[in-house]
Amino acid sequence: MTMPTTPTVTPGFPQTTRAVLEEILNERQAQLRKWGQQNHEPSRWLAILAEEFGEAAKAVVEAGATGNRIELENWLQEMRAELIQTAAVATAFVESLDRNELA
Ligand SMILES: [Mg+2]
Repeated sequence: MTMPTTPTVTPGFPQTTRAVLEEILNERQAQLRKWGQQNHEPSRWLAILAEEFGEAAKAVVEAGATGNRIELENWLQEMRAELIQTAAVATAFVESLDRNELA
């Protein structure tokens, strides 16, 4: 398998996308500070990813169950944070694959 090359950022790439990717990068850096470099089997990575995705889903379900606007906004913020964590874990998963499985 050919290893991916460093992507070229297209001029005019949406600022909103850049802002989200920067949040994911910040979360990825926080994970590295907390856990260091992680190398797991793909099945374990999938379980970790599913756990994060499940937390996002839980926030959605709980947001739908409240009639209180402040609680709803809190759940939506939590869901958003969990989605960023999910994306960061997916990134770590790919990094691990590139180091170990696909090298
Ligand atoms: Mg989480």
